[in-house]
Amino acid sequence: MTDARSQPAATAPSGACSIPLVDLKRQHDFLRREIDAAFRAALDESAFIGGSRLASFETSFARFLGVGRCVGLANGSDALAIALTGLGVGPGDEVIVPAVSFFATSQAVRRIGADVVFCDIDPVSANLDVERIESLISPRTRAVLIVHLYGAPVDMTAVLEIARRHGLLVVEDCAQAAGATWGGRRVGAIGDIGCFSFYPSKNLGALGDAGCIVTDDHELATRCRMLANHGGLAKYQHDIGGLNSRMDALQAAFLEIKLPLLDRWNDERRAIARRYRNLLGGSDLDLGAASQEDSVFHLFVIRTRRQAQILARLRANGVGAEVHYPTPLPLVKANADLGAQPGRYPHAEAHCASAISLPIFPLMTDGEIEQVASAVLDAVAAP
Ligand SMILES: *Cc1c(COP(=O)(O)O)cnc(C)c1O
Repeated sequence: MTDARSQPAATAPSGACSIPLVDLKRQHDFLRREIDAAFRAALDESAFIGGSRLASFETSFARFLGVGRCVGLANGSDALAIALTGLGVGPGDEVIVPAVSFFATSQAVRRIGADVVFCDIDPVSANLDVERIESLISPRTRAVLIVHLYGAPVDMTAVLEIARRHGLLVVEDCAQAAGATWGGRRVGAIGDIGCFSFYPSKNLGALGDAGCIVTDDHELATRCRMLANHGGLAKYQHDIGGLNSRMDALQAAFLEIKLPLLDRWNDERRAIARRYRNLLGGSDLDLGAASQEDSVFHLFVIRTRRQAQILARLRANGVGAEVHYPTPLPLVKANADLGAQPGRYPHAEAHCASAISLPIFPLMTDGEIEQVASAVLDAVAAP
């Protein structure tokens, strides 16, 4: 049940860009002593699967989110598939998914044999257009898979209202939004189940792959733990079909070190976003998703009609800008069999053809922010 996935490297190859999209080394240098100590302690114990470190992180993260249970998993992609299976979604069911996200979002639905129904996005936020959800509901619709894209929370009040009215399950893909809040509650703790990725470059990142699900439903949490542990809670207990998708104890120990910094680092991301907005405000760039103040800014995404040209100029000037994502999910090759034609998801297509992500990461300096902003203004001003 593992996907062969490839995600762009989190940091630019050394020398290619003077300001990378994300600088993980800076975070880890800042935490080096604690990380070294955690690694040494794990080595001394040589207990790598399950155990007290995993249990401790699960408790800490659940408490941080204000939710009853957290189950550590191997990665965010499995978290989505396990969450859906745990909820009883499977073949014959339809799941509504935004047309713009990372590939894993729609693939999670497909790999459990359910049918994806894509929802076009809101042209400003780039999140799924909540007002469109009802028009996509059929008698087979079981769930809505919400993605808080780039770290900006979706209007969960409206989503829950629609879900209640139609008896739908709500799954939150919080891979990009750890720590974000909607209406005073942390995302992930709002729907029926929340799914997180701790891929290294996420706002809360491990030193390798990791993920989790969170829910207030204890039975659902237990089912997810069994699904991720060969179908049981104990050795040689295989009560349901399952796979191996556990979080390593070592990753749990590293995440426990980083968790107390998450709110502070999200505040830093917000401050960087404000600074960018001030510096870029006068230009004719479309700030779109980048203007959302309640985002935790996993990515700072601007839009321009001259995507390729501006991207090339930024790269030439040492700015590690990227495109998230170049292709709407209905049009990626792996989803070609679903038969979506170009023009069917116009807002998603327009977004993917115009989005540019600028560098943003905790511990980014004022000088770097100014350098990126002036490179953007130069690129925009160029003929
Ligand atoms: C990163 C990401 C995932 C997948 O998480 P992995 O831990 O890399 O498997 C899923 N959905 C979204 C929106 C993501 O950004």
